Amino acid sequence: MQRVIVIGAGLAGSEAALLLAEGGVPVVLVEQKPVRRSPAHKSDGLAELVCSNSLRSDNPENAIGLLHEELRRLGSAVLEEADRARVPAGDALAVDRVAFSEALTRRIAHHPNIEVRGEEATDLPGELCIVATGPLTGDALARSLAEAVGDSALAFYDAIAPIVAGDSIDQSVAFRQSRYGKGGGDDYLNLPLSREEYERFVDELLAGQKVEPHAFEEPRYFEGCLPIEVMAARGRDVLAFGPMKPVGLVDPRTNRRPHAVVQLRREDRAGTAWNLVGFQTRLTWPEQKRIFSECIPGLRAATFLRLGQVHRNTFLDAPRALAPDGSLRARPAVFCAGQITGVEGYVESAASGHIAARRVLARVRGEQFAPPPGTTALGALLRHVTGEAHPPGYEYQPTNVVFALFPPLEERHRKHERKARLLARARRDLAEWARVNSVPLAPEPPPRPARTPSPPPRTLPEQSDIGGQAAPGEAPR
Ligand SMILES: Cc1cc2nc3c(=O)[nH]c(=O)nc-3n(C[C@H](O)[C@H](O)[C@H](O)COP(=O)(O)OP(=O)(O)OC[C@H]3O[C@@H](n4cnc5c(N)ncnc54)[C@H](O)[C@@H]3O)c2cc1C
Repeated sequence: MQRVIVIGAGLAGSEAALLLAEGGVPVVLVEQKPVRRSPAHKSDGLAELVCSNSLRSDNPENAIGLLHEELRRLGSAVLEEADRARVPAGDALAVDRVAFSEALTRRIAHHPNIEVRGEEATDLPGELCIVATGPLTGDALARSLAEAVGDSALAFYDAIAPIVAGDSIDQSVAFRQSRYGKGGGDDYLNLPLSREEYERFVDELLAGQKVEPHAFEEPRYFEGCLPIEVMAARGRDVLAFGPMKPVGLVDPRTNRRPHAVVQLRREDRAGTAWNLVGFQTRLTWPEQKRIFSECIPGLRAATFLRLGQVHRNTFLDAPRALAPDGSLRARPAVFCAGQITGVEGYVESAASGHIAARRVLARVRGEQFAPPPGTTALGALLRHVTGEAHPPGYEYQPTNVVFALFPPLEERHRKHERKARLLARARRDLAEWARVNSVPLAPEPPPRPARTPSPPPRTLPEQSDIGGQAAPGEAPR
């Protein structure tokens, strides 16, 4: 059978290599450790968890918990070893990171169909391969990838702007309008600021506490995605001429152009989540909550689903660079998996590796691969990578799996019923997909014991140095 090269033995590469090998495909797994390590990788083991030891909520009424469940049912090696290495952590799936990595390393090393090569890949191979080198892909391979897809389709930083829940925005302040009525006319929500409000906002931005970059994260930004506090430091009016420019907008309540605006763009078609356009920032999370709530009219009672961050992250503009089958449009033998495709998080990366391996397996066997439907957590993640989950004009940025990526439910449901309905639909559709495509699927897990509801968290979880979009009640990590 045709061999497959997998580059990178992190979460995505380990999952992909084992799935392919189990499918009878000879795999060459190229991993730069121990010869070379990224600045975040500390051990020589494969599938290293570089930061937190939590794979986040294991409750399937959260999108990430549902993703756990789907991967388990499909026989994911990463989930199997995570379950074996589990340590008590309430509702979360947390693991003993050493036991987890050792188990996967052993499993890979002993698999008769896998040959591990400890070397750095510096070029895209000319044969069937999966590139899973993660957010800190080395320069040489990144250059080779950029040559294949074009410089503009490979980013080296991600700049994440905050996202707020649609129903927490004060609609008596916000007005719907696109600049000069372009596009859908009312695609954007605008929060107007007077000169005094704007000046106060700039003062707070300049004085607010910022997260210091890691030593390996040179604070060198693309001009197109400068953090707002960096712009404010360049001059007091820079924001008013940049992301907060009011041109082409008239506040219907005053019939005048505001001094400045914060524009919010839909994150999902249903408008449950809205992105503060251009508001990427290194302000600490508590400072973002305080300053944005206090200084931006209309956000006083805002629920922040995600807060802003900027960090080193090599990722493809996947909707542009990848063909529908997940291979590079420019190089059909090269598949990509993991964080480099613009998914974010350990489990999302493993899921991406799982799907990439199924696709490559189908290619090797000369079969068609039908991806899981978008109503499942796996399919919703694919909807992000293909761009299908996003409204036109969405600027591709990495994301965790969240319910906002799923197609909305057909009928309206009360808020507290929605997650249960999304879960039921996902389970039904995954089972149907598995049946039609003859994919072995373990049975649904038994219902979880009812828990006494805990009071809603008063603050966001502790700030981590990497991004992640969290749905309500769903901690980033
Ligand atoms: C500082 C930091 C902290 C993070 N914290 C968290 C967290 O707490 N929780 C979370 O869910 N996610 C976190 N992430 C995101 C995390 O990287 C991903 O979630 C996940 O590890 C990505 O999986 P991956 O398989 O795509 O890449 P990785 O797990 O990074 O694996 C990539 C592998 O490829 C190898 N490699 C790279 N380049 C080459 C090359 N040229 N040749 C051969 N091998 C190569 C690397 O050595 C590595 O083993 C963090 C990321 C960073 C950078």
